Amino acid sequence: MKAAVVERIREAKVLEVPEPVTEAGSLKIRVEACAICGSDLRIFTTGDPRATFPRIIGHEIAGTVVEIGKETKGFGVGDRVCVAPGHGCGDCKYCKNGMENICINPKPSVGYASSGGFAQFIVPPVNVVKNGFVNIIPENLSFEEASMSELLACCINAQERAMVRDGDTVVIMGPGPAGLMHIQLAKARGAKKVILSGRTPGRLNLAKEKFKPDLVLPEQGKELVKRVLEETDGIGADVVIVAAPSHEAQELALHITAPRGRINFFGGLPKDNCISHIEANIIHYQECILTGASSSLGRQNKEALELISKGKIKASYYITHRFILEEFNEAFAAVERKETVKAIIFPWKAKEELPS
Ligand SMILES: [Zn+2]
Ligand SMILES: [Zn+2]
Repeated sequence: MKAAVVERIREAKVLEVPEPVTEAGSLKIRVEACAICGSDLRIFTTGDPRATFPRIIGHEIAGTVVEIGKETKGFGVGDRVCVAPGHGCGDCKYCKNGMENICINPKPSVGYASSGGFAQFIVPPVNVVKNGFVNIIPENLSFEEASMSELLACCINAQERAMVRDGDTVVIMGPGPAGLMHIQLAKARGAKKVILSGRTPGRLNLAKEKFKPDLVLPEQGKELVKRVLEETDGIGADVVIVAAPSHEAQELALHITAPRGRINFFGGLPKDNCISHIEANIIHYQECILTGASSSLGRQNKEALELISKGKIKASYYITHRFILEEFNEAFAAVERKETVKAIIFPWKAKEELPS
């Protein structure tokens, strides 16, 4: 089969490689579409502690089941499925209590330390299938729409942690793909007012036009604090989601959160520069809750597909670029230049067959 193999940082080649063998407990999937994630770009450009080279990366996968392993239950040949990168062992205290995203004995993750989706076929590891990270795609969704479900599942995880609920005012910091998805998701969960903050004018305009937050704030620093307070009767937002890998945004988030408000650090910081200086007394006196978010759960991937299927999240709005497998390097360059919202690679298609 053909696969894009990342041999080392910033070096990838499309090669003929052996097809994966279907294991007992797993299944073989013909990959129809695989979206590029911010973490794929990180693995490719800087490396990631969880990733090893050479590696077929990619973990936002939609495809068709072509073979079923012995003892694999719940799937049939021809099923259309999404694969997400669950790494839970299934046996530790966290996995057993439905928190396999923070497993203390993690297995290799799809597209990090086991083969991912920028290839014509994938056989996901058995624990991924067992823990619910392979889910049936609802009939009304295309493969490319379905491939948006993994990012959405990560957003659902964050909004569960931040307890986004009916009537909330939610500030989302960062207009990247995840920030845009958080807008639609917060609305779907009943938020009364969703405010997007960011500095890239092009992205903020796109957000206004398509994703319809109630308000877009381009202000930074103290000006942003002032504007958010004006918009929230002087008390701050019920929830602030920091969807940008920014120390400054993390520090500011506390100043725009209401008493008893919830803050979620959705975006991680670079691993060698991850100290933020936050005003701890805000947490102390205002009883704010500061949480993180890492990856997603199997059930959240299923819920993500349902939300897209019901039209609560408009998956097609995010898809701005489409590439064939041979264009792997061009695709990643476009993502790195921030030209894309979401870009998708189609491992079986020729250039003229790409959907427009
Ligand atoms: Zn992803
Ligand atoms: Zn575990």
